[in-house]
Amino acid sequence: MGRFILHSDLNNFYASVESLYNPEIRNKAVAVVGDEEKRHGIVLAKNYIAKSFGVKTGDTVWEAREKCGKTELVCVKARLDLYLQISRMVKDIYREYSSRVESFGIDEAWIDVSDIASTFAEAKAIADNIRVRVIAEIGLTVSIGVSWNKVFAKLGSDMQKPNATVVITPDNFRDKVWKLPVEDLLYVGRATKKKFERGNINTIGDLAHTDPKYLRLILGKVGLDLWNFANGKDCAEVSRSDAMEKVKSFGNSTTCPVDLVGNDQVKSVIYMLAESVAERMRRKGFYALCVSLWVRDNDLYSFERQMHLPYPTNVSIDIASACYKLFLEYYTWHRDVRSIGVRVTNLTTGEIQCDVFSRISDLERQQRLETTIETLRSRFGYNIIKRGNILMHEDLSILNPHSAPHIIHPVGFFKAK
Ligand SMILES: [Mg+2]
Repeated sequence: MGRFILHSDLNNFYASVESLYNPEIRNKAVAVVGDEEKRHGIVLAKNYIAKSFGVKTGDTVWEAREKCGKTELVCVKARLDLYLQISRMVKDIYREYSSRVESFGIDEAWIDVSDIASTFAEAKAIADNIRVRVIAEIGLTVSIGVSWNKVFAKLGSDMQKPNATVVITPDNFRDKVWKLPVEDLLYVGRATKKKFERGNINTIGDLAHTDPKYLRLILGKVGLDLWNFANGKDCAEVSRSDAMEKVKSFGNSTTCPVDLVGNDQVKSVIYMLAESVAERMRRKGFYALCVSLWVRDNDLYSFERQMHLPYPTNVSIDIASACYKLFLEYYTWHRDVRSIGVRVTNLTTGEIQCDVFSRISDLERQQRLETTIETLRSRFGYNIIKRGNILMHEDLSILNPHSAPHIIHPVGFFKAK
């Protein structure tokens, strides 16, 4: 007893990521397609607008365009590396709540919060908090189902989209779940659905009321499993498999409220991003040996450059100064700067050996300083302390990498509910 399980599902994941990176397509019908070069690329994902025209995953681009009629369908090529990277960042947030996080595909995961919640109200508050954080820190929305078992948690995350929490309890599941079509239940595929239809089992409630002996007869052991699912008797655990997944990078990026027109402004934003990256690294005990800078100009041309550091670090001045160096070296100011990203890779967690790193005392001093600043900010708000270089730019001083209205990665465009 006392299990509290969340299932979190990123809404329209691929299309939402593309909308993050291309603000100009946000209000258009968007399809993410497999291969742009081939004329008959396949639709891998679509946003709500494309969906409203009937565009489906698996459609050819040609079919999808046909369905949209006179409305333009924007087709963007899938960038799986990017989606994986963002999926990892989102799941890192989940892992701050529980060591039991089990992925279900790139955009879904179960999170067992039984250790920190003792009522459904508490579990819902955690789910709401996760939703707000994913919007603020990543810029995407999730739908979360809260229940005492994995199957109903998953159902809950499907029931309201986007950006919602649905709680399914032992008291309300008969009302909320039993009216749903039986194929909404996890593991009820097309073949099973057909067999159910023949037995006049159309809703999850029908299934729950069917004699399990009959189900065993037509489906074998799976029939019994599904009967248990429908009656809320799923007791599978959320596995810890994801806990072993290795963190490979930390990063943050922002689309600025105004285009940046000079080195000083860029430097300010780089320092701000580096601070939030360093903070997360320290919280998790990581050091990085490689720093990369991503820059996008107001013509949406972007590039990424990286450099290796002579020593592992997790303090913001090291990360920021390396990034700023990269910027000075590679940016030619042919255009103003719209977005900047800071990322660290080549991570280590090991103890740093003093004899090898003679600057260890500097590092520790800087770590202490930055940790103090974080503590002040967590107690008094982000703006209690600002870098002098940020204060010089009034337009930029509204940037805050920790809270809404939030401009992180690259820009949070949904409002928290
Ligand atoms: Mg999804």
